[in-house]
Amino acid sequence: MPHSLRPAAFVPAGFHVENAVQDGAITIITVRHTSKSSQCPGCATIAERVHSRYLRCLADLPLAGRQVRLVVIARRFRCDVASCRRAIFTERFSADVLAPWARRTARLDCLVHHLGLALGGRPAASFARRLMLPVSNDTLLRAVRRRGCPPFPTPTVIGIDDWAWKRNQRYGTIICDLERRRPIRLLPDREPATAQAWLAAQPQIDIVARDRGGAYSLAATKALPQAIQVADRWHLMENASHAFLDAVRKSMRQIRSAIGAATVDPALLTAAEHIQYEGYLRREDANAAILERAKNGAPIKQIVRETGHSRGLVRRILRNQRSDVFRTRESSLEPYLPWLDAQWAAGLQNGSELWRHLKRQGFRGCLRVVSEWAGRRRRAEKANAGSLRRVPSARTIARLMTTGRDALSKSGL
Ligand SMILES: [Zn+2]
Repeated sequence: MPHSLRPAAFVPAGFHVENAVQDGAITIITVRHTSKSSQCPGCATIAERVHSRYLRCLADLPLAGRQVRLVVIARRFRCDVASCRRAIFTERFSADVLAPWARRTARLDCLVHHLGLALGGRPAASFARRLMLPVSNDTLLRAVRRRGCPPFPTPTVIGIDDWAWKRNQRYGTIICDLERRRPIRLLPDREPATAQAWLAAQPQIDIVARDRGGAYSLAATKALPQAIQVADRWHLMENASHAFLDAVRKSMRQIRSAIGAATVDPALLTAAEHIQYEGYLRREDANAAILERAKNGAPIKQIVRETGHSRGLVRRILRNQRSDVFRTRESSLEPYLPWLDAQWAAGLQNGSELWRHLKRQGFRGCLRVVSEWAGRRRRAEKANAGSLRRVPSARTIARLMTTGRDALSKSGL
């Protein structure tokens, strides 16, 4: 049996609509509560004697694309209990409908809270405007802070590390409960004293996993002398791979000559790389000319006059400090190269088709990147070079050396 839609269906439960008017872009709905009584906040007695009435103006959920202002005709009640210190009190509503002193209905406040959580202050505020919810960014943040975070069970195994409020500028400290695998606390900075104060209040902690720096170690030692400190796995891996990459970088000269790619085949370069390559050749020429003059005994002053290069540059070249190695840039294709290689070998050699496949795999570069790769590949095959004659970056080589042998493709790139 269908029911007719009554105005009371649009306002919070328990309210009766007295009046509704349009005022420009705002709908103003006047309501009053249907109950005859209210509970005194001082002595919890139910009071029925009305002292007076007043208007409470509240923001509510938008209705049909318009902002809604709810005007509640609220009452003041008299408390007749002799021992109660509240002779008069204002009408109270259920907290899940309307909290005392609130400027918004509870259902709007809940939405505001979730918007703030999901988007943060300013982005949420501009989104809220589009949703016809009149809230400022400060209000959103206040709503999030007021509800706070739920209390966490006391942890016994924690991880502690820094995290960026704003990268390279301001850092805080994050503490995770490693048994329940969730962050439990953010501290405003990464000072040892701040971490120490928090840790000292949690004497039940047995194990602290931390980075390999000294600050958190110091804090944990002072606050929890009985706890075991361990280096966390992420930092161990990070340090190891960093050291490995450094070792590869130091050997790049030997790697280049071993690959036989010390010479660049200009036919295999893209247009942008051609420009870089020409610049590289010019610099090589200049280096050779300067070194030649120096070998013939010309003083720096004379070389500067003859070649027109700055004194500093000439000096750097003579000291062999200008490292002129031509390298092609690491491209966004790098992670997809093994896959591309396999497709190419299987006969799929159409740039746009490859690009469409890659896009489905999450590649975010444009078509040009893939078609350039395909073109280069084609030219390499035509020149019968067999390989792309491309020196892989140190990072790629490090990755190849740490990938299982069976997982490597034939070209390895
Ligand atoms: Zn009372």
